[in-house]
Amino acid sequence: MSDPTAPPLPPSRPLRPEGLAGFEGRPAAVSGRARDPVNPPMIRHWCEAMGDRHPAYSGPDPVAPPTMLQAWIMGGLSGHGPRGGRADAYDRLLGLLDRAGYTAVVATDCEQEYLRPLRPGDELTFDAVIETVSPLKHTRLGAGHFVTTRTEIRTAGALVGTHRFRILKYAPRPKPGKAAPGPAADEPRPQRPRPVINRDNAGFWEGVAAGQLLIQRCAACAELRFPWLPGCGRCGSPEWTAVRASGAGRVFSYVVMHHPPFPAFDPPYAVGLVELAEGVRMISNLIGTEPGRVRIGMRAELEFLQVDAGLRLPVFRVLPDGADA
Ligand code: ZN
Repeated sequence: MSDPTAPPLPPSRPLRPEGLAGFEGRPAAVSGRARDPVNPPMIRHWCEAMGDRHPAYSGPDPVAPPTMLQAWIMGGLSGHGPRGGRADAYDRLLGLLDRAGYTAVVATDCEQEYLRPLRPGDELTFDAVIETVSPLKHTRLGAGHFVTTRTEIRTAGALVGTHRFRILKYAPRPKPGKAAPGPAADEPRPQRPRPVINRDNAGFWEGVAAGQLLIQRCAACAELRFPWLPGCGRCGSPEWTAVRASGAGRVFSYVVMHHPPFPAFDPPYAVGLVELAEGVRMISNLIGTEPGRVRIGMRAELEFLQVDAGLRLPVFRVLPDGADA
């Protein structure tokens, strides 16, 4: 647990607000060019991963799902390289924050605007600007600065969409038990985040309270959907009923979280995309085995985990094939 040889976290120091504000309006990416034109194979892989079977995205004359906007312009593991992209100012801003001790990063939110559908053959170019750098903010993760970039995506010079992306560059809090001083030792353990319950998903949480995993079923076309949404993605009907999931499923995909650390979570832990026997997929914790032993295709069985007095969550116990459910 406590590692006396671990180097202390770098101390964070305040940066001059006017120095940070000087980055606002500077380019974050210049004359970027998408690696590939909009193309049906990428559209198909995306739709398979998302479980989106909308007919507009397949067939002889498909359009790309609007939410793919960023996927077309991502650099991949090797970055954009010679095809343009990331500008000096953005790297200098991140370097400045790193050297001041704000070494951790977490993406906080994203807003997109779509001006027209993208179709196979569209060649995309993009430019991005550092829109805002916030003053120092104190968050549950630690103190830091929010950096917002706005990317404009064009085809043949015409704007087709904008992508606004916000990160928090922050100074990670030392873990309880680590050498760094702080109030952590006698601080109550932070709680897991509470779900946001609204009129669209209240039925789901009522099911969880009753020990049931409920899936929405469209009352018009019988399509099952998860997560809970106000309308049917297939036919648009707002009418629905709920069916109880059997609780059987398989690991469709997963990640093992190591970093960054979040309050109330103890890495490493496995987060799975579980395909339920009913066909819909949901994201939840995978329990019952070492995170490093989780594999795609393993059987996953629903359980309800009482996280604390006020929070119960559906999670999945993974079972090696051949084990009795
Ligand atoms: Zn429907």
